[in-house]
Amino acid sequence: MITWYDTHCHLTENAYQKDRYEVIQRMKAIHGVAITLGVDVATSEHSKSLALLHSHIYFCAGIHPHEADRCNAKNYQPQLETLWQHPKCVAVGEIGLDNFRDYSKIENQAWNFLFQLECAKAFHKPIVIHNRNASDQILKCLDQVRYSGTGVWHCFSGDKALVEEVVARGFYVSFAGNVTYESSPLLEVALSVPLDRLLIETDAPWLAPNPLRKTRNEPSYVAYTGSFLAQQFGIEETEFQKQLAKNSQQLFQF
Ligand SMILES: [Zn+2]
Ligand SMILES: [Zn+2]
Repeated sequence: MITWYDTHCHLTENAYQKDRYEVIQRMKAIHGVAITLGVDVATSEHSKSLALLHSHIYFCAGIHPHEADRCNAKNYQPQLETLWQHPKCVAVGEIGLDNFRDYSKIENQAWNFLFQLECAKAFHKPIVIHNRNASDQILKCLDQVRYSGTGVWHCFSGDKALVEEVVARGFYVSFAGNVTYESSPLLEVALSVPLDRLLIETDAPWLAPNPLRKTRNEPSYVAYTGSFLAQQFGIEETEFQKQLAKNSQQLFQF
């Protein structure tokens, strides 16, 4: 059975407090696989516990740039190191830089990003990159630590030139529900990604795809983004599913 992979969601969010189990079961009902991301130690631990309970859920552990100000490596390093060695932990993430929201100082974001890049290298894990208006700084950080591993630029918001750059560096590019929005410039960017480097995600509970825009998002809605992009690429849906499943498996080593 080939199905949709939601390569990025946040099942630990409070938005699912009342019906987390049902949300996870709806993804199971479509034979979907979801990766839930930690943004700090607590959500990384919670993500692990969800992955332990459900065979179709995997997780990532990491410190999100928004959390950089209140996270100190001395405290999180031992716990994250244990999580990164867990068999259902598929990547270090989410990590990166965010100049769009002002939740943490950029110096702290950069320090934590560089530190976790070194960890990803040491633990031989791919990385999940969060980028808001920080493409050049992120590329500089990757160069600074001579990062030669792989990973994904999640919820991609760059242009075609950035696609070219990150694909040349061996990365995958993932699109969330906002690629389905009317007159989104992202569609043209998505169509420029080589098919063997393309991934999709929900980034749930945010960014629900059309026709469910502005509702609470959940992993099973990844099917809407998948169908939409299959059509736009002009590829038969099951063929498209097969390709994305292969990409997800290749990157995250399921
Ligand atoms: Zn993100
Ligand atoms: Zn995220």
